[in-house]
Amino acid sequence: MLFFLFLIFTTTLAVAAQPIIHVGILRNVTEATVGAQNVFEVSFSKTDNTGLYNHPIIIKIKDKSLYVDTKKVISDRVALRTEDNRMTVNGRKYRGTLEIINNAPQFFTIVEILPLDEYVYGIIKHEIFPKWPEEAVKAQIVAARTYALKNFAKHAKEGYDVCNTTCCQVYGGLESEDPVSKALVDATTGVILTYQGELISTPYHGFCGGYTEDPRNVWEGVNKVKYLQIKKCNFCKKAPRYSWSAKFERTKIESILTANSLPVGKIKNIKVNDQSSSGRAIEIKVTHKDGKVLLKANKFRLLLGSDVIRSARFKIKKDKDAYIFEGAGWGHGVGLCQEGAKGMAEKGYDYKQILKFYYPGTELSQWAN
Ligand SMILES: [Zn+2]
Ligand SMILES: [Zn+2]
Repeated sequence: MLFFLFLIFTTTLAVAAQPIIHVGILRNVTEATVGAQNVFEVSFSKTDNTGLYNHPIIIKIKDKSLYVDTKKVISDRVALRTEDNRMTVNGRKYRGTLEIINNAPQFFTIVEILPLDEYVYGIIKHEIFPKWPEEAVKAQIVAARTYALKNFAKHAKEGYDVCNTTCCQVYGGLESEDPVSKALVDATTGVILTYQGELISTPYHGFCGGYTEDPRNVWEGVNKVKYLQIKKCNFCKKAPRYSWSAKFERTKIESILTANSLPVGKIKNIKVNDQSSSGRAIEIKVTHKDGKVLLKANKFRLLLGSDVIRSARFKIKKDKDAYIFEGAGWGHGVGLCQEGAKGMAEKGYDYKQILKFYYPGTELSQWAN
């Protein structure tokens, strides 16, 4: 009996501490199929009508109105739920309650509503290999949970908190879950990162290649952030494809820049105009027949392809009518170095030490409502 009471008590506590997150899982669409394994209920914000379904239904915009199955909807919100919180959207499984935001005549959006950690279950596999050492996965989990909370209002205007793409964090619902990382989410439940009592921004990247980066050297219009510094990292040396090189024909670079509102004539030279003490390029100068173009190295890298020019830690060589970029690292280099976290975990550091290394001066706190 005592054990039973204890169970109820701890379960209630865990539930009470969880913020609820609204995730835009299918945005601005005109048709979708929604279903569930069991009976599900559909209810409308403007009427008391509810419907029960035991088969998948089609939601669509037709004749400038939203239709749920055959019912024309005047409500701006439609809720869909089952008793076991297991629904499908276009055949993909989700664990939360669903809500349709009616933006007829243009489109509608499907939002999943669920406790924060259940959302984190569905993102970790997209961010890190669950088979990595546990402490590295835990560090990633705390960074991802903090990131979600910090970005809670990102899509407030659209009627939800976060989206399911790299704009926020890639989220795939129940099918993206992994039993190992799920257990580690539970083991660190409620743990977040703060700096002087405030939630922090927790950027992370594949691996830094030797030094992490100051965000001011990467993005436009960013202020100094005390816990995001250039730090020497010796832990990511074993990362696969630590060094890389990529070759671009001059004409290819000309067409990419021109197509992205940076019109250039025949390129005469491309050089690193400004370099960070981390070894990354900060600014690129493209000299061409009609003048010159200056742009952030990170932007240049994204335009040419972030999986080809894998980081801004590169040197440029001219090779006849082409340019060769030789570099190391993967990603922007700011904050947590994921391969470095793996390296630290393999050397025996725990997730708290890993996070404090990559976000210096921060504290691990417990989420409180
Ligand atoms: Zn987003
Ligand atoms: Zn590193």
